[in-house]
Amino acid sequence: MATRRPLVAGNWKMHGNRVETAALVATIRHGVDAFSVADVAVCPPFILIPLVAEKLAGGPVFWGGQNLSTHKSGAYTGEISGSMLKDYGCTYVIVGHSERRTLYGENDSLVAEKYGAAQAAELIPILCVGETLQERESNRTEDVVARQLNAVIRAHGVSSFKHAVIAYEPVWAIGTGKTATPEQAQDVHRFIRGRLAVMDKSVADGVRILYGGSMKATSAGELLAQPDIDGGLVGGASLSADEFLSICRAAK
Ligand code: PEP
Repeated sequence: MATRRPLVAGNWKMHGNRVETAALVATIRHGVDAFSVADVAVCPPFILIPLVAEKLAGGPVFWGGQNLSTHKSGAYTGEISGSMLKDYGCTYVIVGHSERRTLYGENDSLVAEKYGAAQAAELIPILCVGETLQERESNRTEDVVARQLNAVIRAHGVSSFKHAVIAYEPVWAIGTGKTATPEQAQDVHRFIRGRLAVMDKSVADGVRILYGGSMKATSAGELLAQPDIDGGLVGGASLSADEFLSICRAAK
């Protein structure tokens, strides 16, 4: 079985200003210097990326975007391209976050296009998948996650997951304080890996599948100890350096 290096990524969403961000990244950088058991990344709002890039230059913390355009450049007011993110040293970019799917109408095919645009710009997409509460309660979790994955596989092939990260984020757990149990999360992570394994075992063994949804320092240890959970995509808790660093430490 492949050894997968854990990844803990912070999704700051639309939070922060220059002063708060400079302090937050300084503490995270200092904290991460003290251990190297996992890859650590932060995904600030676009406008704070230059500042974060300057503060984190030289490692060990990576950074990324929360979204990108499907286009390379041109008359697309308000959009940011993959190559612009790359130019500012981004390694990762989140695609298909449930807030983008629900609040901004991003459907599976648009998410697949963004995933492709990220890889074309040599960024590593963090592809978010996950079911709503209603879908879980009607036993459709696996169908929904399979549908979201299939859109990407159809467009870019299973081998594209050699250069991607998947984040399983049950929508009902995001920002609600309600974390999936380690068993609930592991079941879906195993399902995702199993689905990829049917198509390509080595891709399935190598791809990192993160859990996201109200992960906190107190819940991280048990979640990250599950065999198919390779790290976390952390929203609210990534805005506190102490909390975020505790989660990173739990990702052994
Ligand atoms: C997220 O937005 O990706 C997320 C997991 O948020 P939270 O940790 O706040 O639930």
